[in-house]
Amino acid sequence: MSGHDPFQRVTAIVDLGAVERNCRMLRSRLAAGTELCAVVKADGYGHGMGECADAALRGGATRLAVATATEAFELRERVGAEVPIFVMGALTGAELDVALQARAELNVWRADFFDALAERAGMFGFRPRIHVKYDSGMGRLGDREPYGVARLADAAADDERVELAGVWTHFATADEEDEGYLRGQLESFREVALPIQQRHPGTVLHAANSAATLRGPEFHFGMVRCGIAVYGLDPFGRDGEGAGLEPALSLHTYVADVKRIHAGESVGYGRSWRAPADTWVGVLPIGYGDGYRRGLSNAAEVVVGGVRRPVVGTISMDNMTVDLGAETDVEPGQPAVALGDQGDERVAAELLAERLGTINYEITTGLTRRVPRAYRT
Ligand SMILES: *Cc1c(COP(=O)(O)O)cnc(C)c1O
Repeated sequence: MSGHDPFQRVTAIVDLGAVERNCRMLRSRLAAGTELCAVVKADGYGHGMGECADAALRGGATRLAVATATEAFELRERVGAEVPIFVMGALTGAELDVALQARAELNVWRADFFDALAERAGMFGFRPRIHVKYDSGMGRLGDREPYGVARLADAAADDERVELAGVWTHFATADEEDEGYLRGQLESFREVALPIQQRHPGTVLHAANSAATLRGPEFHFGMVRCGIAVYGLDPFGRDGEGAGLEPALSLHTYVADVKRIHAGESVGYGRSWRAPADTWVGVLPIGYGDGYRRGLSNAAEVVVGGVRRPVVGTISMDNMTVDLGAETDVEPGQPAVALGDQGDERVAAELLAERLGTINYEITTGLTRRVPRAYRT
């Protein structure tokens, strides 16, 4: 990608072929009857919701999941009437109507929400499919009481106005090395969900995010909900290549200027970096306004001319600076890669995440609207 012609100051290139292949890889790990639900919330983790949804479906995903009603609505317009879309989040009354209009499948765990939903459903002239959520230890959405989950599932199955589609849960520690808590959640989910499925055959059970999906088949049940791995990022925060993951997004900018900085001189706000010796500094027109976080000041690398260059000075909203060294042949106009590959060098989302004390999810999801996404297949 080193030949990328910088037609704009910053561009995120999203390789939809990689999204497709990541889905195929995930599918290959699933038993024949298990469905892959691609999670495309938060604008496809910053990659673009609609484009990634299409690519995931090409790669063998048969369902899509989002967090909000608005996301479901936008996605429905994109993918047509047939593809099941599941809204995983909590919904206000107004959002419920939007989700129903989008013919989305819905997350239910509170009895009062169930009643409101069953009542509203008639207005929309179809039977909404609902997934009853059990909180097996995440401590977020879902009913912690096994009896409450069973009662709600039975009520949904008996109610003409709705359809019981699934019983589900979410793991808190699927990405951690120690499996103790995860196994506990799995056992507790099985105890609650399997009897419900026995009473109501056809109910789909689902629990696994990307990390649990990659761990093994005991977590898969009838469907897995994969987000981060669809985009080729490793849920365990390692280099995902070992797992067969292909990062889909790369972030490109260019060298807007190259300047001589003498020993003791500084670049950027607050003079947080001073040149220890005479050097050349490249100015890149990208900053935290694009989602290249200020916390990476003096703490990351950018590839320019096939070489990793240290970020020096404070990252500002629209610009940042890199140290090109005492001698350089880098010239203004040359491409720079802030995330992804150039030549043999790579800056991985996992590296930036580690430097920021966060997770790779936040690196791509944090790219702002100012960054145009360009797609290649
Ligand atoms: C976001 C989300 C997922 C996807 O998680 P990944 O770790 O990105 O695979 C699955 N389930 C729920 C409930 C989620 O909110």
